[in-house]
Amino acid sequence: LKNAFSALNAARNRGGNIAHFYSLETVLQDAEWLELESALRGAIKRDELSLHYQPQVDLRTGAIVGAEALMRWLRPDRGMISPARFIPIAEKTGLILPLGIWALRSALGEIKRLRDQGLPIEHVSVNLSARQLHQQDLIPQVDELLRQADVEPGSLTLELTESILMDDAEYAARTLKALKALGLKLSLDDFGTGYSSLAYLHRFPFDTIKIDRSFVQEMHTQNNGAAIVDATIQLAHSLGMTVVAEGVECEQQLAALRSSGCDYVQGYVFSRPLPTTELTSMLRDHPVF
Ligand code: C2E
Ligand code: CA
Ligand code: CA
Ligand code: CA
Repeated sequence: LKNAFSALNAARNRGGNIAHFYSLETVLQDAEWLELESALRGAIKRDELSLHYQPQVDLRTGAIVGAEALMRWLRPDRGMISPARFIPIAEKTGLILPLGIWALRSALGEIKRLRDQGLPIEHVSVNLSARQLHQQDLIPQVDELLRQADVEPGSLTLELTESILMDDAEYAARTLKALKALGLKLSLDDFGTGYSSLAYLHRFPFDTIKIDRSFVQEMHTQNNGAAIVDATIQLAHSLGMTVVAEGVECEQQLAALRSSGCDYVQGYVFSRPLPTTELTSMLRDHPVF
C-alpha cells in the first residue's frame, strides 16, 4: 500500500493530472496486488500452499480415472484464498515458476503414494501456465521431475489453456511436441473460450480436450447449446482426442453428456476438489456410481 501511495504522490508532485494515468481503482488494485505478492512469498516459505484434487470420472464405468490438482492457499489470518486471485499474481511476478515445479513434484508424489496404497488412478492433471511454457528450462525440468518420480510418465497430464498457444503458435507447437516426447499427456483446458477452432488444433499434440464449464451450463439454457457440445465431442473424437467435460453440476447435465458420447466428467455432481486424505477415502469407496 505504501508503494502504491508513493507512486500516487510522485505523480501528483510532478504536477500531473493523476487521473490521467492512475485511477483510484488502479491504485487500490496495485496495493492489493503488492500486499498479496509479499504475502504469497511468505506463504511459500511457510508452506501454506497445498494441492487439492478433483476426481475425473469415466462416464461408462463410473470409475475415478484421474484427478486434477488445484492449488489452495490457506492464510492463517484470512482463510482460503482462491487461485483465481493468487495465480495471476504468481504469473506476473514469476513466482509461478517455483510454485509450478512444486505442484508437479507434489502431484507426482501423490500418484506414487496412492499406488503404494493399492489405490491406482491412471493420471493426475497439473495446470501449466503461460510463464512456465515460455521458460527456457521447462523440458529438462519436467524430464528431471519425471525421472525422480518413480511413476510412468504417462501418469502425468499437463493442462494448458488455448490462449497460451496462440501468442506464438510455432513455439507452442514445438514445445508441446518436446513435452509429449517425454511420455506425458497433454490436455487442452477451457476449450471453446478462446478463439481457436478444433480444425486448427491438429497442429498441437493434445490427447484430451476439456469442454469449459460455460458450455456445459449452456447445454440446457441456450438454444443449440447441446448441439454445440455434441459437435465438439464428435470432432474431438474424429481427431483422436478424448473429451473431459468440466464444471458438471447436476444429473441432467450428466445424462446429456452421456448421450453425447463424452468420455470423462469432472464437477461438483461427483466431488469438489478434495484434500489428499479425502481423495484417498473416496478412492477406497470407488467406483462412484
Ligand atoms: P481451471 O484449471 O479451469 O480449474 C477448474 C476450476 O473449476 C477450479 O477452480 C475448480 O474448483 C472449479 N470447479 C470444478 N468443478 C466445478 C463445478 O462443478 N462448478 C463450478 N462452478 N466450478 C467447478 P479453482 O480451484 O478455484 O481454480 C481456478 C483456476 O486457477 C484454475 O482453473 C486454474 O486456471 C488456476 N489454477 C489452480 N491451480 C493451479 C496450478 O497449480 N497452476 C496453475 N498454473 N493454475 C492453477
Ligand atoms: Ca485446469
Ligand atoms: Ca478449466
Ligand atoms: Ca479456467
